[in-house]
Formats: sequence, structure tokens, C-alpha cells
Amino acid sequence: MKSPLLPISILSIYKNSLGDRLPLPARMAQCTPDTQTAIFNIATDLASKGGKLILSDLFRSYDMQSQSHNDYVSGKKKAFSPPPGGSFHEAGRAFDIDLSSIKIALQDFWEVAASHGMLPIIAKPKAGASESWHFDCRGSHQLVYQYYADKKGTNFKPYTAAAASGILSIGVPVNAFCTNQTQAAIQSCVIRLGKEIGNIDGQLGRKSQQALEDLGVAFNSGNVSDMLLQVENLVQQQFTDEFKIPSLTSNNFITPPKNTSKAKA
Ligand SMILES: [Zn+2]
Repeated sequence: MKSPLLPISILSIYKNSLGDRLPLPARMAQCTPDTQTAIFNIATDLASKGGKLILSDLFRSYDMQSQSHNDYVSGKKKAFSPPPGGSFHEAGRAFDIDLSSIKIALQDFWEVAASHGMLPIIAKPKAGASESWHFDCRGSHQLVYQYYADKKGTNFKPYTAAAASGILSIGVPVNAFCTNQTQAAIQSCVIRLGKEIGNIDGQLGRKSQQALEDLGVAFNSGNVSDMLLQVENLVQQQFTDEFKIPSLTSNNFITPPKNTSKAKA
């Protein structure tokens, strides 16, 4: 199966007319299960230190990312925003936080975030620096990052390759792969399963075919959807926390940290 996106209830920078904080709007309030777990754990840790995890952004659809990029290009939005296909926001794996609410040094927040698998996007913890508010939960797509960092793939920068892999894994198309989305998604899976196939380029060449056979997936170029299903299942078996869907009886919603007054509807 595809990596699922789960709804999440968490306080945001947005306020109602009375000045009460509102939950992150539903269109943005979605993330992968491992990201949801990370957010819950970071919010809990932060609350114990007197801070609050308040988000300004989480999931962005293709259209939302497109708009965000256009706003950056036109100057309406100052923070850099890549075109669709290159951001972990589009994979439900990145959040932007309100730095003024964490109440601890950014450096200390980096440690809290890293202990739950969320990494910053800038090199040094300088609060206020562009993108100092942005964190990614790369999950298994870190393997794609490393693969490209090791020059086993060369057609993308490591970060872009990893983000594209994350986006494909939730079933959202990435422009770079044109009409070969399924083939590219297969390649993302195969790399995360430890195989070397050259670039993620949507072309299932000899190396991809061999890797699939090695994984026990019969190569059938006439039925790429079936091959994708099979490698997705293998990925799911290996990275179970990225696919855990809460049972119907469990609470899907994350309670904001204690001592946070709930926004009135
Ligand atoms: Zn961001």
C-alpha cells in the first residue's frame, strides 16, 4: 500500500477574532504515521520543558506547494519555497514551527526533534535564519538521501531525491517523472530496500529489472502497477512505523500539550 496520511489535531499560529489559537486547518493537518508519532512525542517533551509546539505548516498538496512557490517567485512570500516535487511538506513529512513558542534555545529544540527523528534543514541552529523553523521526518527516504549523497544516483540533489521519493510514496505525482510515475515509485521502493539501480528516472532498465528479480518480484513491464504493489508491500514489511494506522478505537487526535487553552470553535 501507499504510505498513508493521517489527520492530526494540533495548535497553529492561526487565531480567531478573539485571539484564541486555532487548530491547524484540516487541509494542512495531515501527515504520515511516523511523522504523527514524532509530532506527538516532540510536543510532549516540549511541554515538559515549558514550551509549546505550535505549527504554521505541515502537509501541502501539489496545488498548495505550487502556490507557495509562485508566492516566493513573485516576492509575496519571503521564505524560499521550491516548485512542487522537492519538498517534504508534499509528502506529509515536514513541519514549520512557531519559534517563539518553544521557550527553549533552538539548539536544544534540535536535540529534542532529532531524538524523535525530525531533522532541521539548515546547517546551524541560528534562530530566525531562513528555514530555521522547518523540520523533516525523512523516515526510510533518508536511505534515498544517502544513496544520492554517495553518488549512486546523480540526476537530483540528495535532498530533492529524498523528498521526491517521499512524495511518490503517498501516491502524489512528481513532474520530473512525466508519464512514468509508477516506474519511479518502484525505483524509490527498490532503493529503500537496499538495491543499487542508478538514477530514479522512471526508466526501468537492466539494473532495475535485476533488483526486482532479486527481491522476488517477477519483472513484467506490461503490469507496472502490480510490480509497484509488490515492492510497496516489501517496504511496508521493513518500515512498519510508516504504515501504522491507528485502530478505530484509538484516538486519532493529538491532544495539545497540557496547560494549553483550546481554541474556541
Ligand atoms: Zn517548511
